[in-house]
Amino acid sequence: MGVDSLAPYAADELRSRGRKYDEPRAAYRGEYQRDRDRIIHSTGFRRLVYKTQVFVNHEGDLYRTRLTHSLEVSQIGRTVAVALNLNEALTEAICLAHDLGHTPFGHAGQDTLNACMRDFGGFEHNLQSLRVVDVLEAKYADFPGLNLMFETREGILKHCSVRNARELGDVGERFLERKQPGLEAQIANIADAIAYNNHDVDDGFRAGLLSLDQLREQDLFETHYSAVHRRYPDLEDRRLIYEIIRRMIGTVVTDLIEETRRRIETARPRSIDDVRDAGNPMVSMSEGVYGQHVSLKKFLNQHLYRHEQKLAMTRKVQTVIEELFAAYSDDVRRMPPEFAEAAANLDEVGKSRIVADYIAGMTDRYAIAAHEGLMD
Ligand code: MG
Repeated sequence: MGVDSLAPYAADELRSRGRKYDEPRAAYRGEYQRDRDRIIHSTGFRRLVYKTQVFVNHEGDLYRTRLTHSLEVSQIGRTVAVALNLNEALTEAICLAHDLGHTPFGHAGQDTLNACMRDFGGFEHNLQSLRVVDVLEAKYADFPGLNLMFETREGILKHCSVRNARELGDVGERFLERKQPGLEAQIANIADAIAYNNHDVDDGFRAGLLSLDQLREQDLFETHYSAVHRRYPDLEDRRLIYEIIRRMIGTVVTDLIEETRRRIETARPRSIDDVRDAGNPMVSMSEGVYGQHVSLKKFLNQHLYRHEQKLAMTRKVQTVIEELFAAYSDDVRRMPPEFAEAAANLDEVGKSRIVADYIAGMTDRYAIAAHEGLMD
């Protein structure tokens, strides 16, 4: 079903490039709603609850996990999509699926698995998200994966090397032709960055790894800190931080909507193809706010993600991933039967990919338990 209020340049299922395997339409749902539902029902999605965003799951109950991160990305993305008359269901589907390919232990896990796969094509979580929905989910009698709509898959694949793009076919084309994805995909991409920038301030502060004084060196934070502090001088730190963060999200999201609206008015796209052919993304913050956003991102990179306490955890999980990879590569029968059988007659490259699939699918605690099991 098409949505009446959609802008002409929004993704519309009636003009979609469709699914790889034809399916009859659903009676009561649009096709992108259906994609969103398939993602929510997937095994990969349920695992996100036990996967690290920045803090390993067992470090505390209040920190974001990949699941709560994905939900925050989705609600930011949907707000922007609706404000711009774009496709909300598609935006939601992309946001919910964007991290499905993440390894256990966050970026430390991904970097280690990538290093293990150095001679076998590497490992990249974003590409893996697409592999999860295209290949690895085994839920339907008629086809592998979730058989999602082209635009959903296009949105999941945020970046891609030329070599991988050639192998990927349809969704890889835009990286070879230097085209943009649809606006819903562009929104999901930025909503991801807005979500983590803000929730990592919250989590980092809660963990005691970031201080108010440090945060106040950031313009985006300081502007709202002064306003909140002036109005509520006695507010305790915890509520102060929440109040600042909700205002920061408000500022950035409002700016994103208004700047994007301006860019759309200037570029005057008449269809999603005009959006794809445009030289630059149309979904964008204004220069000033983008500068503050990037500055905060760099700050978190330096002071939170590379904090000594995080690095100590990183070294620990590197060993877990490396030893799991070595053990399964050495004998694929150490993996569950479906992976062992899939890897049985493959060459080194193919076998390593199956091992990487298995490890990438693990939750933090499953990986730790599997590692302990191997060491016994
Ligand atoms: Mg993310």
